[in-house]
Amino acid sequence: MTGPPPEISTADWSDWRWQVKNRLTTPGQLASFLKIMDLPQNLRRVLDLYPWGSTPYYLSLVDRDAQSDPIALQCIPREEEITFSLPGSDPDPLAERANSPCPGLLHRYRDRVLVLATGTCYSYCRHCNRKRNWKTPDLTLSETDIQRMVRYISAHPEIREVIISGGDPLTLPLETLDRMLHCFRAIHNVEVLRLGTRVPVVLPMRITNELALMLKGHRPLWVNTHFNHAREITTEAADACDRLLCAGIPVSNHTVLLRGVNDSYEVLHRLFTRLNRIMVRPYYLFHCDAVKGTDHFRTSIDTGVRLMLKLWGDTGGLCLPRYVVDLPSGGGKAPVMPSFLIDSDKDCAIFRTSEGGVLKYRGPHGAEARHGR
Ligand SMILES: *Cc1c(COP(=O)(O)O)cnc(C)c1O
Ligand code: SF4
Repeated sequence: MTGPPPEISTADWSDWRWQVKNRLTTPGQLASFLKIMDLPQNLRRVLDLYPWGSTPYYLSLVDRDAQSDPIALQCIPREEEITFSLPGSDPDPLAERANSPCPGLLHRYRDRVLVLATGTCYSYCRHCNRKRNWKTPDLTLSETDIQRMVRYISAHPEIREVIISGGDPLTLPLETLDRMLHCFRAIHNVEVLRLGTRVPVVLPMRITNELALMLKGHRPLWVNTHFNHAREITTEAADACDRLLCAGIPVSNHTVLLRGVNDSYEVLHRLFTRLNRIMVRPYYLFHCDAVKGTDHFRTSIDTGVRLMLKLWGDTGGLCLPRYVVDLPSGGGKAPVMPSFLIDSDKDCAIFRTSEGGVLKYRGPHGAEARHGR
């Protein structure tokens, strides 16, 4: 299915260091990938604002003959990033900056914090909701930043989970990440760690046994990755997830609902069932936020609800993620699962069924009174 072009040896291709060294990042490399002489002015302006970069591996999944290929949409810059803007979109609609007690740390929800460990990614997703940060030269945490976070987390005993995100934390040197995980793990109130990474999707060969073994040393640790289309579930990607799973690290997935990439029942059904087959648990389906530079990807919430409703009717529960909207101004995540409950009171609840019927569900008459409530 996938694999190296004939002039590259399989050994090089499957070596993550070779993949990183041969990442495509310059305007010239984009032009030659697109098989054009020169980039149009608008595309040059896109690159000035939102850099591009991807791995030879991920770019090999692009179908160059397709008009709008779901892989290309995610990694190849488009003019729409600067020419198409909807009212109300914002570089930071979730007001993440307002919830930051110290540099690189977000504390939005009571029992968990999010650490922006680095600004770097191996492949820059055109739909990224933190693309405002790409131009900030070096967001990688210093030792002082980490110590400041450790003090904050220790002073807030209600925090039980530390989520390492970014950027992509798996772009960090192994020793740096190991040390960082160790610092957070050592805090007495921290019970679990979570790592958010797209590396299994864009550079699966980076998930070496050595890396899996390092992560294993920090269990309980959960990995959350980001597959958006079944075509990303290659043998290499499935093997990468398997190395994590075999090291005792559960892998979950969040998908972003993206127009033209996965906003159809067939595409989502194939994605979620294939994830289920490689034992990666679909966790969230994120509604595409109103992030400046990504408006061409947005769908309506109604589209998402209709897709979830259809999936709910005929797909096993372990395949189905929760559909969530991240509310603007830091309002937090809101689940928008289709509801089957039409009405309810003390004695009775009325449901519609997924086949379109209506059913009455009787409550435990008088039971609550008898138990003195
Ligand atoms: C999404 C998010 C989390 C994690 O929330 P879960 O529902 O546990 O996945 C934590 N912090 C911030 C700021 C987030 O946006
Ligand atoms: S890997 Fe994550 S942080 Fe990096 S560009 Fe993609 S969505 Fe953004």
